[in-house]
Amino acid sequence: MSSVASQALSNRQDAAWRQRAAKVVPGGMTGHLNAASLPAGYPQFFERGEGCRVWDVDGNAYIDFMCSWGPNLLGHHRPEVDAAAQRQQALGDCLNGPTPRFVELAERFVARSAHADWVLFQKNGTDATTVSLMVARAATGKRKVLVATKAYHGADPWCTPVPAGVTSEDRAHLIQYTYNDVASLEAAADAAGNDLAAIVCAAFKHDLGIDQALPTPEFARRARELCDKAGAALILDEVRAGFRVHAGGSWETVGVRPDLSAWSKSIANGYALAAVTGVDALREAATRIYTTGSFWSGGVAMAAGLATLEIADAADVVGHVQRMGQRLRDGIEAQAASHGTPVRQTGPAALPLILFDDDPGFDKGAVFTVEALRRGVYMHPKHNMFLSLAHTEHDIDLALQATDPAFAAVAARFGRR
Ligand code: PMP
Repeated sequence: MSSVASQALSNRQDAAWRQRAAKVVPGGMTGHLNAASLPAGYPQFFERGEGCRVWDVDGNAYIDFMCSWGPNLLGHHRPEVDAAAQRQQALGDCLNGPTPRFVELAERFVARSAHADWVLFQKNGTDATTVSLMVARAATGKRKVLVATKAYHGADPWCTPVPAGVTSEDRAHLIQYTYNDVASLEAAADAAGNDLAAIVCAAFKHDLGIDQALPTPEFARRARELCDKAGAALILDEVRAGFRVHAGGSWETVGVRPDLSAWSKSIANGYALAAVTGVDALREAATRIYTTGSFWSGGVAMAAGLATLEIADAADVVGHVQRMGQRLRDGIEAQAASHGTPVRQTGPAALPLILFDDDPGFDKGAVFTVEALRRGVYMHPKHNMFLSLAHTEHDIDLALQATDPAFAAVAARFGRR
């Protein structure tokens, strides 16, 4: 694709698949992948992806700024990753036990992260955050866990953001604090008394629909101190930020090391894999918990993970996604100013979030993203997005050609400021 000229989006196939899905899947689709939570015009079903582009089932092509909500760190269909996965597939994936890739990948994790002395593998981010809590509770014999208000840590009963199907007992030992608010963190730790097992922190504040915030050094240091004082575990949820903020762990940027980190999304470039890394002091506790899954040690995802880490480290993926994100951010900033439609862009540039001023219902965001979509750019109106190694300067510039008329549409509909 060499330009982002406006395309008349066909959605006939998508509509047909949605109709079929509605009959056999409750609500047609569950969770964050349900396109019903996006403005009208967004596709629900996709046919393929390559590099930084995705094609929906109607054949519409988009420059992709979601990267499958994070996993495609190197871009879709990265040949070396797929080749490694296929080589393993030819040998076997789900066997009576793990393949040697299990050990090789664990070694790689331990080598690249200063606070990782051991690794446990799972499949999804929710598995990793949940296992982290279990390790912390097994190690401490305590129950209370501090979590930030509105932070997303997965979809199990202890953390799913929607209350249906959840009992108050599922959350009985959670105490809330406000991210980056030291006083609220201290109050929550006080409330835990001598029953504090862990403090859970996202790598940065990335709650849906509000400005993002990097952790302040004061907040991160205080979380560390409170855990040390109570003998509790500091858990960093790296599921979303992992490998886009800092190769060795996101809080290296603030000089604070967690005891446990939960990883998933990007670690195998789209193959299903999650991991918990931990410090030696928690190794014994990690041997005592019983946590497993039929597919958790599948060799294909681990082969993909090894190839992903090799490429990511050699290519300085963190530097690349930050540079591409900054190029996008600068372009968006200039366009927003020239159209008189101010936006706020917060958090790390590699995980961009674009929110319009005076837009509580995300109506401006909807017009903006739908207009960009019609011009072949897939963005999100209120969730952070993701850059990949496959995004080039040229791709960013093409995307900016689409966002300029999208800003014009916002100005035409809502006026200039
Ligand atoms: N933690 C964070 C910070 C996440 O962003 C997510 C997923 N968006 C999860 C945990 C849960 O991961 P998964 O959907 O793979 O279970």
